[in-house]
Amino acid sequence: MMVEGGCHCGLITYEAYIDPETVCICHCTDCQRLTGTAFRTFVLTMEGGFKLLSGQLKSYIRVGESGARRVQTFCPECGSPIYSTSDGDDPKVYSVRTGNIRQRDELVPRAQIWCRSAQPWLGALRDIPGQERQGDLAAVLNPHAHRRS
Ligand SMILES: [Zn+2]
Ligand SMILES: [Zn+2]
Repeated sequence: MMVEGGCHCGLITYEAYIDPETVCICHCTDCQRLTGTAFRTFVLTMEGGFKLLSGQLKSYIRVGESGARRVQTFCPECGSPIYSTSDGDDPKVYSVRTGNIRQRDELVPRAQIWCRSAQPWLGALRDIPGQERQGDLAAVLNPHAHRRS
């Protein structure tokens, strides 16, 4: 499946040929730290299946528990994570971050990895009060203390 994506500020745009059967959630502590959030969602490309259309990526080498080196790329302006891949020669498989893929709604995760470090509240996500948009966040967070007359 061909997908298009880009970073938040618009500097980076790309297209990728991905396998929608490989959408995955990673709960590892590196992903939590690198994304600044609870987990990462990614999808694998076919070999060599990533094409940068505009901008220049900045990269950071993450050394995993196994000693494997992974190149993490992101937009140098807005910091949006774009993909990770092996540290070596082409052709490569790219692990593309699904959050900035235009067709992300169609990319349903098939598996979760590193569940041992998953945030313990994730299973109760449906029980956390939600609203359509941001609304009055202070009132949502503490409806009793911030109730207005
Ligand atoms: Zn950007
Ligand atoms: Zn991870």
